[in-house]
Amino acid sequence: MIINFHERIHVDDKNICKLFMHEISELYTDMELAAEELELLAMPRRSFTVHFPVRMDSGKTRMFIGHRVQYNDARGPAKGGIRFHPDLTIDDVKDLAFLMVLKCAVANIPFGGSKGGVIVDPKQLSGNELELLTRSYVRAINNFIGPFKDIPAPDVFTGEKIMVWIMDEFERIKGEHVPAVVTGKPVELGGTKARNYSTALGGIYVLEEAMKKLNMGQEGARVAIQGFGNVGKNAARLFFERGYKVVAVSATGGGIIDQAGLDIQKVISHQESRGSLLDFAGAADITNQELLACDCDVLVPAALSDQIHNGNADNVKARIILELANAPTTIDADKIFFNKNIFVIPDVLANAGGVVVSYFEWSQNLNSSYWTEEEVLRNLKNIMVNSFNDVYAACSHEYCRMRRSAYRLAIKRVLEAERLRGNL
Ligand code: NAD
Repeated sequence: MIINFHERIHVDDKNICKLFMHEISELYTDMELAAEELELLAMPRRSFTVHFPVRMDSGKTRMFIGHRVQYNDARGPAKGGIRFHPDLTIDDVKDLAFLMVLKCAVANIPFGGSKGGVIVDPKQLSGNELELLTRSYVRAINNFIGPFKDIPAPDVFTGEKIMVWIMDEFERIKGEHVPAVVTGKPVELGGTKARNYSTALGGIYVLEEAMKKLNMGQEGARVAIQGFGNVGKNAARLFFERGYKVVAVSATGGGIIDQAGLDIQKVISHQESRGSLLDFAGAADITNQELLACDCDVLVPAALSDQIHNGNADNVKARIILELANAPTTIDADKIFFNKNIFVIPDVLANAGGVVVSYFEWSQNLNSSYWTEEEVLRNLKNIMVNSFNDVYAACSHEYCRMRRSAYRLAIKRVLEAERLRGNL
């Protein structure tokens, strides 16, 4: 049985797919899957390409190419982001859609996985062209998406505004309100509370479970965070509010460290007024490499993939790595951490809070009943804690790494759904 997993991956996702496919191919051997199970997992259920016209501001029409892959929907409607990127290929989209299948299955939410997008550099388009492109893509794929088929969400270079255009165009075509066709909407149009910081908080919930298992105290635990964007900044703020000592943070231009703990509200104001983290009063400036190697209990990569590798993994002093970024750790680094007994909470579990809260948004839309922020957080915590414990239980029984344990659990869940449907 040949699993044709590919050498043709979008550059930002190269490591995500490499790490993931490496793990999966070893797992398939470990799990001794039957040929029919392998075949079922190796093939996306539906994968298609559309070509659609957009009338540009110049008055001329340009054709664009869009893809969508619905990898598996045995556990529920497919769920996955839409990205606008010039290097997008259908094969990247397939891998990322499979990753979504596994992420939803690890979190045990009733979704399959999908991914899609348009080959375009959105920075080259005017606002008007971007809207027309989004609407034309929706017209091209509208028969294949929907609340019970496939539910898009934001991804690279797409956000709230584009999600509203997707919803609006879909509703115009269907002639009815269908907010559950897409997630990541503003609260005023059916979005959910707490979405903006759900990835960071979901990660903290799983971290706190890990700390209990490792008998580590939370109060005053030292945290270093690489990346100060949506995920990293929210994580820093939440850690600070929960009594952790955030000793170091960094962004593209470098970072700052203070072993006594940074006042994150002041750091955020400093960054907003200065456009940089550097030169923060009372802290020392550091490079990103120094941040990864600093003295701390928890290291949180929340920037890009491939940040911790063969060349710097040995310098890491943290006891736990919380992967809020996608694939920040290379395969070699992952092995080094396993041998050094550094506990890695893998991306597929650590950053699942975003998709879990998307599930809440979909569910609120279907019921036309909206939750308070407290309800969202309570439900998020339940799901993240249960997911952590499911993965950890499988891990300690099988003496394997958390990443492998998470994938193993997800594959079992997907195959069980297929079995119950009579497909195996
Ligand atoms: P973002 O673009 O808002 O922020 C990225 C941050 O990383 C910025 O502060 C940037 O300055 C910093 N950065 C870039 N290169 C760096 C480097 N070499 N060293 C240190 N910092 C660097 O992105 P985001 O939404 O915060 O996402 C961060 C990561 O989390 C990505 O891997 C993303 O795929 C993953 N993720 C995000 C979400 C989400 O809800 N936003 C969900 C799941 C996974």
